Amino acid sequence: MNRDNYNQLVNKSHEISIKWRSLPAPQRGEYIRKFGEELRKQKVNLAALITEEARKIKTESLGEVQEAIDMCDFAVGLSRQLYGLTMPSERANHRLQEIWHPLGIVGCITAFNFPMAVFAWNFCLAAVCGNSIIWKPSPRSNECARGIKNAWDKISDDFSDLILILEGGNEESVALCEDNKISLISATGSTQMGKELAPIVSARLGKLLLELGGNNAAIICPSADLDLTVKGVVFSACGTTGQRCTSLRRLFVHEEIYDECVSRLNDYVNNLIIGCPSKDSSQVGPLISEESFNNMQVILDSLRSKDVEILGGERLEIEDPKEFYVRPALVLVDQIEDEMLKETFAPILYIKKFSDLKDAISMQNNVKQGLSSSIFTNDMRESELFLSESGSDCGIANVNIGTSGAEIGGAFGGEKDTGGGRESGSDAWKNYMRRVTATINYGEELPLAQGVEFDET
Ligand code: NAD
Repeated sequence: MNRDNYNQLVNKSHEISIKWRSLPAPQRGEYIRKFGEELRKQKVNLAALITEEARKIKTESLGEVQEAIDMCDFAVGLSRQLYGLTMPSERANHRLQEIWHPLGIVGCITAFNFPMAVFAWNFCLAAVCGNSIIWKPSPRSNECARGIKNAWDKISDDFSDLILILEGGNEESVALCEDNKISLISATGSTQMGKELAPIVSARLGKLLLELGGNNAAIICPSADLDLTVKGVVFSACGTTGQRCTSLRRLFVHEEIYDECVSRLNDYVNNLIIGCPSKDSSQVGPLISEESFNNMQVILDSLRSKDVEILGGERLEIEDPKEFYVRPALVLVDQIEDEMLKETFAPILYIKKFSDLKDAISMQNNVKQGLSSSIFTNDMRESELFLSESGSDCGIANVNIGTSGAEIGGAFGGEKDTGGGRESGSDAWKNYMRRVTATINYGEELPLAQGVEFDET
């Protein structure tokens, strides 16, 4: 990495952040409104870039750009709602108030599998909150990053530098993490990446927002509507070729409906149209790389060596021989296998029978990650237990939909090895601001808090 270039980039970002933060927040929102309009105009072209680089099927790529547009709309409204609370003061003629201010520069490190949406989660909030952003995209997503930057440049007038891109790999991420001038590091990627970068940011007591790996589970209860359940399970497990942080990896099925569920899931998976992601008909595209394919096969071989039953999982020689298409694997396990406890970024779905819902919830929670979870049931007692403090320990808990495909309105993120961060909707904007607590005395006395006396003697 060229240090001079890096320093220039950070200086530019700092300068623009000073100008930008002095605009009233609703005016910042107006820029984001125009950005959303530009993304609408360029939706098809931007989606094509996602399909090109991330190998996502067309409808998912379009959905990803739509997610960025939705974030713009959300942030425009938010630009008039960066509320601070006013609290009653215990002292007469005093007022106690929270004021929110921008942080400065946000360093945003993103993964290959959501090359635009995750940036939009961060940028739209960071920008209306008054910050500039330096974006270190995945080395696999540079064209997507440039596409977004070009859209911003079209509408940003003098604020082009609000988004600056730092292309590169580990070295560039580490430089941002070490740099005191970067007020917040928002990093999305594997848990391993988070574990390596977090200590660097913590060593300078920097602010950190982590969105890391998942190992998501769903539970199917006897009362579930199996039509919607099977569709929800297959989309979550096989959609995006199993390469979402929220992809479904573990499935616990009640013994009464186990055989029927497995048979229907297997039929659905066998009928999936697997093929070139830019064809309208394709439902599942290739894996991102040969390395991903090899990682998948190592896990399946290890399971085979233990005589675990596997349906599918093989490479499909279709279309371009350089691509790695696979049939999603359904792995029927009698007991919890070690392979189930880690995130393999490929379409492998472990399926296990259960008889008691509490056991299923406990198996679901008994992994290091804590991102997304689902229950399929029409029994209100079961769904409420799942959502209660004794239920799912994840950041996302769904009823009668799969683990993937969250909307932007809610806060997105997970617990434990998923990193604890929350981005996108709800009050996630608070991550991008600093809170000032102000006490204002408009009286003529100086009473001290907690009744402390300090009178002249
Ligand atoms: P990755 O961890 O390989 O890379 C993510 C980003 O971090 C990239 O920009 C990469 O250059 C950088 N990076 C990786 N290792 C690094 C290191 N040691 N030092 C410095 N920088 C490093 O992840 P990926 O393969 O691009 O994406 C898949 C992973 O991301 C999965 O684990 C998935 O669950 C996770 N993910 C999480 C979320 C979420 O919101 N929780 C969203 C998308 C992806």
